[in-house]
Amino acid sequence: MPDVIVVGAGPVGTLLSSELARRGVEVTVLERRAEPGGGSRAIGVHSPVLAALEASGITDRLLASAVRVSRGEARSGGRTLGVVRFDRLDRRFPFVATLPQHETEAALAEGAPVPRRGAAVTGVRPEGRGIRVSVHEDEDVVAPLVIVAGGWRARELVYRPGGVRVRPYADRYLMADVATGRDDDLAVIGIDRGGVLESFPLPGGRRRYVTWDAGSPEADRGERLRAALRARGEHAAAAGVETATAFEVRRAIAPALRRDRLFVIGDTAHEVSPIGGQGMNLGLLDAATLAPLLAEWVRTGAAPDAGLARWERRRLASARNAARLASLNTSLGRPLGPVANAVRREGLRLALLPPGARMLAHAYSMGFDRDA
Ligand SMILES: Cc1cc2nc3c(=O)[nH]c(=O)nc-3n(C[C@H](O)[C@H](O)[C@H](O)COP(=O)(O)OP(=O)(O)OC[C@H]3O[C@@H](n4cnc5c(N)ncnc54)[C@H](O)[C@@H]3O)c2cc1C
Repeated sequence: MPDVIVVGAGPVGTLLSSELARRGVEVTVLERRAEPGGGSRAIGVHSPVLAALEASGITDRLLASAVRVSRGEARSGGRTLGVVRFDRLDRRFPFVATLPQHETEAALAEGAPVPRRGAAVTGVRPEGRGIRVSVHEDEDVVAPLVIVAGGWRARELVYRPGGVRVRPYADRYLMADVATGRDDDLAVIGIDRGGVLESFPLPGGRRRYVTWDAGSPEADRGERLRAALRARGEHAAAAGVETATAFEVRRAIAPALRRDRLFVIGDTAHEVSPIGGQGMNLGLLDAATLAPLLAEWVRTGAAPDAGLARWERRRLASARNAARLASLNTSLGRPLGPVANAVRREGLRLALLPPGARMLAHAYSMGFDRDA
């Protein structure tokens, strides 16, 4: 019997299993997918996560290929409203590291226990001094501790229906990663009457573009993103867009992360709008901070209840902070009429004056996370 079962080999489950194995804990990882996912969702890894993963060597692997984004510029009406300087923060890693999520997952997986793939978990229930995990409804595996890190779809394994309040936003976005041949370390957030257009550098001269969208049909998405880029003078990038993928945003924060020997982390526990760029980072910090406590439990045979209660409080508070920031970003990025847009532009310009810009740099790089 393993010491711990981890459900899900996304970034969060992979990090947890790696950090547990590094501490001598025997872990089984159950993953529904037969192959690792190839698409890119998260691209930013923030300073507190880089600091938390330094001892394991993961940070070096991430930084070997990531772009180090030192500044974020807010633009509107062709003017720069202000600049947020990550490189002026007093941090061990004063930048946001950007790379596609599948590369982050590969860096996390190096040295982590190999997951059992094609193993869809269909049930999780406490039983005596352990947890029984059902796989494909025809096999049961038991372990003293089980951690569900299966993304939002796995919530139903743990919480009763309606137990986690999910708030969908009406906003829709389009995104594409485009080869631009431009190598720089500047993130640009353009906010105009048509809504937000974000542009983030990626390794290899590529950039991630994200724009607000009213919900274009699939066939029109590429052209809608190209039009948004052309409207901001980004003609070369527009020419590089082949297709765009659409995504919606939701907010959900679970009421609790632990029930005795069962834990919930990552997107299963909290979903925040990607327009904050912190969802994966929140989950990685859940895992990095939980691993030493679980390893202590396994080593001593006694639950470190005080430490676990503190862990749960801090992670829930951090998720709420990130969700608030993501909600603010989402509402600031909506289309507006000319007068409201002018008011928004002036408000942003003022907010980006010192010391506001420094506070925003701190917030956008997860400086307010309780475990930063
Ligand atoms: C467009 C977009 C952009 C984003 N950008 C950012 C960003 O820049 N920064 C950021 O921090 N976050 C970002 N995010 C959020 C980020 O992608 C997620 O927060 C992150 O992937 C969550 O990781 P996870 O491991 O908790 O869940 P997942 O990545 O969903 O992984 C869960 C894993 O569990 C497996 N699984 C699910 N159910 C079961 C089951 N029953 N049995 C076995 N296995 C199961 C799944 O197959 C999957 O492999 C973005 C999200 C989107 C959609």
